[in-house]
This record gives sequence, C-alpha cells and structure tokens, in this order.
Amino acid sequence: MGRAFVYVILGGGVAAGYAALEFSKRGIHHGELCIISEESVAPYERPALSKGYLLPEAPARLPSFHTCIGAGEKRLTLKWYKEHGIELILGTKVKSADVNRKTLITSNGETISYKILIVATGARALKLEEFGVRGSDAENVCYLRNLNDANRLVDVMKTFTGGNAVVIGGGYIGMECAAALVTNRIKVTMVFPEAHCMARLFTPKIADFYEDYYESKGVNFIKGTVLTSFENDSEGKVTAVILRDGTRVPTDMVVVGIGIRANTSLFENQLTLEKGGIKVNTRMQTSNTSIYAVGDVASFPVKLFSSDIRRLEHVDSARKTARHAVSAIMNPNSTGDFDYLPFFYSRVFTLSWQFYGDNVGDVVHYGDFSSGRFGAYWVNKGRMIGAFLEGGTKEEYEAIAKAVKLKMTVKDMGEFERQGIEFALKG
Ligand code: FAD
Repeated sequence: MGRAFVYVILGGGVAAGYAALEFSKRGIHHGELCIISEESVAPYERPALSKGYLLPEAPARLPSFHTCIGAGEKRLTLKWYKEHGIELILGTKVKSADVNRKTLITSNGETISYKILIVATGARALKLEEFGVRGSDAENVCYLRNLNDANRLVDVMKTFTGGNAVVIGGGYIGMECAAALVTNRIKVTMVFPEAHCMARLFTPKIADFYEDYYESKGVNFIKGTVLTSFENDSEGKVTAVILRDGTRVPTDMVVVGIGIRANTSLFENQLTLEKGGIKVNTRMQTSNTSIYAVGDVASFPVKLFSSDIRRLEHVDSARKTARHAVSAIMNPNSTGDFDYLPFFYSRVFTLSWQFYGDNVGDVVHYGDFSSGRFGAYWVNKGRMIGAFLEGGTKEEYEAIAKAVKLKMTVKDMGEFERQGIEFALKG
C-alpha cells in the first residue's frame, strides 16, 4: 500500500506547524501536503509543556496551544488542517527513508512518496542509560519532551504533592521543571555536574541570581556531581538517588533533563550531517536537493557568526527555519539567504529573560541584580555580539535584539558597562 504527495513534512512538532501555515499562505492545492507524526495530536507549541501545562491551577491544555499561536498567528487545529486539505498522518512513526527512491516507510508498513521532503523530526531526550545509569524506566522517573511525557509528569506530581523531588540536570528543562514542581508544592533538590545552572549560557554572576532566587523558594542545589544509581522499593519505585560521592538523597520522584539528541538516524549515510544535525544551506536545503531540514534537527549557517554552522535547540529557530524552507521551496527566486539572529528565552516563577546572539568574548554585566532588572553583553573584537536581559520591557528586548543584529561597536568598555541598557536603547 502507498500514497504519494508533492510535499511531505516528516515530524509533527513546532517546525511542522509553522511550515504548514507558510504552505497555506503561499498557496497549495488540497491533497498536495501531508505531515507524518509519531505524536497523536496536531503540532503544538512544545515550550508550553514545561510552563502553562504544569501549572497547578487552570493549566494549559490542547487545543489552546496548537501552533502557530506562539508567534501570534492562527491556531492550527485539526479542523484547520482538514479545511486546508492538509493530510495529518498522526500516531505514525516513519521507520525508514530512501532518499534515492524518495520514499518513507511508516510503522504500519505504508510507503509514502514525496517530490519534496521537509525533515522536521526534532530531537529526543537523552536517557540516563546513555550515561551508564540504569533504572530510568521506573514509574516515578520522568523525562519531558512530548505530550505523553508531560501527562505522566502531571500524574506523578499529583501523586506526590507535599513530597520531594530530585531534578537531574541544570539546563532549561531542569530549571523550568524545578520551578513547576515548587509551584505544585513539591520540595526540590537539583543535581548537576557543572559549577552553576544553565552553564551553556549563564555567566556565574547571572547563575547566582537565579540560584539565589530558587533557594528562596526552597530549592536545594547539589552542584559539581552526578547521579550514579537509584535505590528502589520492592515495587521498583525509586526511593532515593545515589550520587558519585555516595551521598544518598531520598526522594518521591525524579525528573531528568540531561540534554537532547537530534533525530537524524533515518538519514545517516544518506544526507550530510554536521554538529549533530542534518547540514543545510542558507535555503534549508540538505545535501539532497529534494530534501530540506528545519528546527532542532537542522544545522545551518548563521550569517551573523560568519556563517558558522550551528544547530539550535530553540523554538524561535524552529519557527523561522520552517517558514524559510517553505519560502525557498515555493518561491525560490524571491527567497534570499536565511539571516537569523539566534534568540532564546525562558520564563520561571515570575522571572523572564531573553538572550540574543552568541555568548562568546568578554562579558559585561549591567543593571541592578538585587531588583531583578539586569543583563549582560558579550563583546568580541570590539563589537557587541550577545545580549541577555532579565525583567526587561518589550522596548528593551527589541533594543538589545537590534543592537546585536547590528553588532554595535563598543569603544570604551567602562562607559559601555556604565550605560547598560541605555547603550542598546540609544541605538
Ligand atoms: P519538535 O517540536 O521536537 O518536533 C519533532 C516532531 O517529530 C515530534 O512530533 C516527533 O514525534 C516527530 N518525529 C520524530 N521522529 C519521527 C519519526 N521517525 N516519525 C514520525 N515522527 C517523528 N525553546 C525555547 O526557545 N524556549 C523555551 O522556553 C523552550 N521550552 C521548551 C520546553 C520543553 C518541555 C521542551 C521539550 C522544549 C522547549 N524548547 C524551548 C525547545 C523547543 O520546543 C524546540 O526547539 C522545538 O520544539 C523544535 O521544534 P521541531 O519541530 O524541530 O521539533
């Protein structure tokens, strides 16, 4: 059995939703496009899973956060896809791909052929087993990548309200889940190997602010170490985590956020890979001209960083790479090079930060850390190339984004530091 489409989007996450909207805006015929997704729901804004979805009161639930609501666009519900003649093949994993035959084979044994393929398979959560720790399939150990994981986490949290949790990992997922656990009245211990939280992005000074804030909410940090094993009860439930130095941390539940790996396996030895992702050019086109890659799975040249190839794991890049790929497919002559300003953000408790650009070079902190309105700039070769801001206004966030995009010249570091946010606002 088999079906044929002009356009196939493989994966049904954030990038798929934004690509579908772009296809519809640029005009496709009914029956030309299909999306194949392992998940059983239409594309949704994945960041909601660690934020609104985990709230104890009035949590966000589908259909409220289907794409493309996160960028102030339409909400694409099942009805929308139907009305636009876009086939959603849900709950279906693609098992293999043949780039020469231009076919995909699904878990049901169906062959789907395409003229143009957009790979939007995103990434999967790394498992503790990949670091030599066994037992992460216990019923009170949670990961968080998709809706099923989020539902499981909600159930486990409800079971242990008033209890204790250990969060493994001090990155995005760890920090956002720790905040959600506290909000759900669960006492948290965070364990991670780095010297401070969000080590890939935060400076020690920025991290201090967030760690102090988390501690004021009752979170305990155990830094510079890793989990080596679990202790379980007779039913297999984890009752404690054991750390490298033998420390035993009793717990009711565990949340693991130790990084992700891009889902490239279907295309290994078929497409060029780089930096852990599928390498694309400035039109999001892979080494095979009929195949594009977008979102977390794509490694693309960032013009702003001298066209260095980067794989970004953030929602803004998923949305924009998806739209750019569709533009390049549908209007090749009027689509220029993808010129992206890397942008990350997070919201925890009542805090909210944004970051633009790259965090290399000399760093300058500014603002008032005690009042929660502060930031940092990164300067390389006399130009501002990165900016972080906590507690900013819309105007201030726009100003730092623009300053980084323009790579504003920094003549006097002392004056630059003194001006702080004013430097960006003055343009
Ligand atoms: P995904 O959204 O992961 O979608 C990939 C899709 O492909 C999934 O539906 C998957 O099931 C499907 N798939 C994979 N392989 C197959 C296959 N073989 N067959 C069929 N289907 C397949 N970013 C931020 O910038 N800010 C945030 O605050 C933020 N919060 C986040 C919170 C959470 C809990 C998570 C998990 C991520 C968060 N992110 C955040 C990251 C952001 O969600 C991702 O960058 C974004 O989802 C990437 O979009 P994507 O479409 O590339 O991949």
